[in-house]
Amino acid sequence: MATYIVLMGMQGAGKGTQAAILSKRLGLPHVTTGGLFRAMEGQDSELAREIQAIMKRGELVPDHITIEVVRQRLAKPDAAQGAIFDGFPRTLPQAQALDALLAELDGQVSLVPLLTLDRKEAIARISARWECTLDPTHVYNLRTNPPKVPGICDIDGAPLRQRPDDTPEAAAKRIDTFFEKTAPLLDYYRQRGVVHEVDASQSIEAVSAALFKLIEANQSA
Ligand code: AMP
Repeated sequence: MATYIVLMGMQGAGKGTQAAILSKRLGLPHVTTGGLFRAMEGQDSELAREIQAIMKRGELVPDHITIEVVRQRLAKPDAAQGAIFDGFPRTLPQAQALDALLAELDGQVSLVPLLTLDRKEAIARISARWECTLDPTHVYNLRTNPPKVPGICDIDGAPLRQRPDDTPEAAAKRIDTFFEKTAPLLDYYRQRGVVHEVDASQSIEAVSAALFKLIEANQSA
């Protein structure tokens, strides 16, 4: 049975960092819609330009586009055994669409870890965040997880950059959107008993250890 895990939590809670760790350890792809959209940067199409403009404003990309991007990602062979979702779903229609997509694959969301963090700490983390220009799943934080060589990705040696939507204004807007549009999703998943809170103010290692414990308990349940 394939394993589908949805990491939830406000921006800056460490979903990307933890999804990358889980992905490596479980051998499942890290499906990040934000990363997939950022990979479209520079593409010469109306859609790609519109998406970059939406992201820069800290708004959500329309559901139908987001769902289609995920549908295409899940169709790739590496997702046959499951996936770790980071930043998706973010709205109720997206969660319902994900259920429908997974039902076609005879699967379902089995675990929704919620990484909890206060807003002030989240904004501080976002301002210190840098990502790899080659692979947006390689994420660093100048305070808590700096690269070995400043400005260079440890994994592939590519230059790092700050995300255009990590300005304090766009970050604050994204966190507001999280409370308005994404937090209500938790009730949807809570009704199924799959949501488990993890204190994201802990170290990266302590958060991953808590996540692995949850996953083990979930697999043996
Ligand atoms: P993230 O990397 O998850 O912070 O996402 C960066 C930006 O990509 C968001 O602020 C949105 O503009 C867009 N985005 C990412 N995931 C989604 C999603 N599931 N639904 C709508 N927009 C998204």
